[in-house]
Amino acid sequence: MFSNRVFRPAQQLSGHVRRYATEAPKSGGSNTILYGVVGAGALAGGYYYFSKENPAKAAELKQKVVGKASPDAKKAFTGGDQGFISLVLDEVENINHNTKKFRFKLPEEDNVSGLTVTSALITKYKGPEMEKPVIRPYTPTSDADTPGYLELIIKKYPNGQMSQHIHNMTPGQQLQMKGPIPKYPWTENKHDHVALIAGGTGITPMYQLTRQIFKNPNDKTKVTLVFGNVTEEDILLKKELAELENQFPDRFRAFYVLSKPSKDWQQGKGHINKDLLKTVIPGPKEENVKIFVCGPPALYEAISGTKKSPADQGELTGCLKELGYSQDQVYKF
Ligand SMILES: Cc1cc2nc3c(=O)[nH]c(=O)nc-3n(C[C@H](O)[C@H](O)[C@H](O)COP(=O)(O)OP(=O)(O)OC[C@H]3O[C@@H](n4cnc5c(N)ncnc54)[C@H](O)[C@@H]3O)c2cc1C
Repeated sequence: MFSNRVFRPAQQLSGHVRRYATEAPKSGGSNTILYGVVGAGALAGGYYYFSKENPAKAAELKQKVVGKASPDAKKAFTGGDQGFISLVLDEVENINHNTKKFRFKLPEEDNVSGLTVTSALITKYKGPEMEKPVIRPYTPTSDADTPGYLELIIKKYPNGQMSQHIHNMTPGQQLQMKGPIPKYPWTENKHDHVALIAGGTGITPMYQLTRQIFKNPNDKTKVTLVFGNVTEEDILLKKELAELENQFPDRFRAFYVLSKPSKDWQQGKGHINKDLLKTVIPGPKEENVKIFVCGPPALYEAISGTKKSPADQGELTGCLKELGYSQDQVYKF
């Protein structure tokens, strides 16, 4: 639970309108109910408001998100015919029962990763008993301009070939990586508002985009995150997201939904569904909106339909289709 938020019981919310904290009311405008009441059920008790900006936190965040590399720092990943490069694992941090953060050293101390926003990288590993190498994509959560290292947050799956391998690595060992694998190219103010619908580790590309938006003072894009998890412990990057909410209360909102909440959980319960989305994200006609989806297969199926391949987004189906969004308003990571 974030200490600087106040949660109110659901019954007190009836009739309240939910808006960005510093946004002026637009009476009668189509945006008036954009952040309107969250119905009992989907986000029961999820109404919260934000305390005033916390200058110490803001300074800390600024320090974190503004890269300190020189503008002509060499990029570790250049794409094209570069192929795989080996990065040395430097540090491992336990995040929860199945997820760890891995910090890899870039080849030179003053290198930046060179990964564009949004993009992923692919990792490759071939064990002694394996016929073919296993290749899996991951999305760095460290800032692309941070010199010297990159970080991956990786969940371990039972019998997961790559995630088990990486979780078994110890500092000093190397992993082959290649990138960038471009996803949705971001330019400042490309959309007025982005809605991010994520499940589990699907938060990683969402965080990459979010941090890019908020580290750029010229970018005024609003961001609404709807983040589904099993338990509270599974919410990745919770602290970082809370810091962004504190620093940008007028432009960043996060809604959390748990499928197995504790009895004290005050926000959304169950799965991300149409009623919740209708309430918290901008409607298809309301703004220059783009919706991003990333998560486990069941989330894609329910929300947007699955991608056919990395190059083929597949048909838009599910909740977003039913809510009237068009194919080109939705991007599946
Ligand atoms: C663009 C992109 C970016 C990604 N970024 C990240 C990231 O930053 N962090 C991260 O942890 N993962 C990320 N992933 C997922 C990652 O690429 C692997 O799919 C995941 O680590 C599992 O690989 P594995 O080899 O361990 O498991 P596999 O050997 O492929 O599968 C083992 C078992 O786990 C199940 N499984 C695999 N993946 C999932 C899943 N997503 N949800 C539910 N069950 C699953 C399989 O059904 C199977 O039963 C990303 C995927 C994509 C497409």
